[in-house]
Amino acid sequence: MTQGPAIVVGRTDYGERDRIVRLLSPAHGRVSVLARNARGSKRRFAGALETGARIDAQLRAGRGTLWHLDRAELLDGHLGVRSDLERLGLLAYACELCGALAREHHAEPRLYGLLELALVLLDAMTAPPGEAWRLGLEAKALTFAGLAPILDRCRVCGLSPDEPMRFDPASGGAAHTHCEGSGGRQVPVDWLAAAELSRRTSLRELVDTPMPAGPSWALAEAVEAHLGRALRSRGVLRSLSDS
Ligand SMILES: [Zn+2]
Repeated sequence: MTQGPAIVVGRTDYGERDRIVRLLSPAHGRVSVLARNARGSKRRFAGALETGARIDAQLRAGRGTLWHLDRAELLDGHLGVRSDLERLGLLAYACELCGALAREHHAEPRLYGLLELALVLLDAMTAPPGEAWRLGLEAKALTFAGLAPILDRCRVCGLSPDEPMRFDPASGGAAHTHCEGSGGRQVPVDWLAAAELSRRTSLRELVDTPMPAGPSWALAEAVEAHLGRALRSRGVLRSLSDS
């Protein structure tokens, strides 16, 4: 039995009455838990199993990697976000991103801390943040997962960026055109510098930071290349911000 804070990063219905919930916990990383009777009784977990909810969770190891959620007390449901579709899309995206990059059953205090701050900030905003905020979130999540993207130099020769640079999501960094060849896509040097700055700047300070034109989803594509699959919530976010 173990008890501590966790954030709900995803959930799936299971059978008639139960739910499988994915949690990100500082002590255990990503954990899938079976919440018995979560759908049968509204009172049993009262609002504590919504994506993005920060909870005090009582977990019990099960057979294999699926644990049991015996009790969950809601600490913060981030209700402010839920009235704004775009911020709600970002909440789901932040949860999926940090949850997917976290290792299963390994301490992940930095990814947890990043997601916790992202949700608190989204909750406190009165309008959706600019693009630099999302890029900062992606860059930090990659960094905390040990996959820091190389943005401030050429990942092949190590020298300073020089127009035109290229970025190949699968290789996790920028490179000179003469070093990389034709792989990846062309990316402006000022965009790379701004993305690197967003990686090093607190999310708190990135809410209104302007971002030069560039490959807006390059870091998300680096995450997807690492995972070998698409981030589902990215499609939703994209359609919301385009409309
Ligand atoms: Zn180079």
